[in-house]
Amino acid sequence: MATDGSKIGINTRLAHSGNNPRDYFGFVNPPVVHASTVLYPDAAAMASRSQKYTYGTRGTPTVDALTLAVDALEGSAGTIAVPSGLAAVTIPLLTFVSAGDHLLIVDSVYHPTRNFADTMLKRLGVEIEYYDPRIGAGIAALIKPNTTVVFTESPGSNTYEVQDIPAIVTAAHAAGAIVMMDNTWATPLYFKPLDHGVDISIHAATKYPAGHSDVLLGTVSANEACWKKLYEGFCTLGCCSGPDDVYQVLRGLRTMGVRLEHHQKSALEIAHWLEQQPGVAEVLHPALPSHPDHALWKRDFCGSSGVFSIVLKGGGQREQHAFLDALRIFGLGYSWGGYESLAVPVFLGDRTIAKGSYAGPLIRLQIGLEDVADLKADIQRGLKAAAEA
Ligand SMILES: *Cc1c(COP(=O)(O)O)cnc(C)c1O
Repeated sequence: MATDGSKIGINTRLAHSGNNPRDYFGFVNPPVVHASTVLYPDAAAMASRSQKYTYGTRGTPTVDALTLAVDALEGSAGTIAVPSGLAAVTIPLLTFVSAGDHLLIVDSVYHPTRNFADTMLKRLGVEIEYYDPRIGAGIAALIKPNTTVVFTESPGSNTYEVQDIPAIVTAAHAAGAIVMMDNTWATPLYFKPLDHGVDISIHAATKYPAGHSDVLLGTVSANEACWKKLYEGFCTLGCCSGPDDVYQVLRGLRTMGVRLEHHQKSALEIAHWLEQQPGVAEVLHPALPSHPDHALWKRDFCGSSGVFSIVLKGGGQREQHAFLDALRIFGLGYSWGGYESLAVPVFLGDRTIAKGSYAGPLIRLQIGLEDVADLKADIQRGLKAAAEA
């Protein structure tokens, strides 16, 4: 089935892309190929490396099934599957920046991305500068002759500022820099980075694509101009992923559309309800009309996912901890995108620009697939405990 034509709907692509049952005896799903060595028919084939598969690090039928499926969703020229979402950030950065380069990173970036830039990239001689997530076209003023990459993440981690990606792309490309985007929150179902001019789209497939909190994986998708360099960087670094993990993400991907719809609906219902609760000062969810970037979100996104933050009305760490400790359904744990609800305390300590001025402590909520009434009751327990702390 041809599933890469642009006229085919996104849910049809989710269901079928990357699968070629006729290549594996009609079985609906691809084989899970455990492989290092690939055999060649003769010495000439070995010398020319002309056959489709040459060694386990450079691709297998299982990896191809996932990366072709992601290509069909992203509209990309090629995709790599790497061992974690964090590796999906570090591998393209290591591939595209060099000593002496200037790298612009959004200040609301996922914290481990910041840590990687501040430690390893700095040590390798890369100049790091953070910018305001709401800078938009103003990014042009920060771009220098040695700026090679503008790194974006929208909405930003924990505080959900929406970036004006098309304006940033225009400014970056005018100066010869490429744009990378961590699009984990929206997935390609609700925002398609390459359609907005982004060169490299990054996903923690650990989250919604996997969907069950049981596997770590990342994907990086590139446009035509960046694909060859990205793939060569990936092969040079040897950062391939295990076949079982790749298969598990492909399996999750097939149902991501229906899961996301449910996450979206429940999260919106709870977010609207939270805005009416006396113990809540603010709900940081870009699909709410009260969010400062709502217009931008509405212009560029076609859906919202299930993770957002709340600001408690007053108090500090004592109230924050009281809220979290009172929860019985929400688990206290990192990551998100699985079937189960999670809550974490938010710290913005190392930000230099997007610190905000919040009325109280922040808590991030991942809304899972449980019944909304039960989740509301659980949050109510948390709010009551915070009020009494
Ligand atoms: C979770 C996350 C990552 C990293 O994913 P892991 O698979 O946990 O390493 C990267 N970016 C964002 C925005 C994330 O939320």
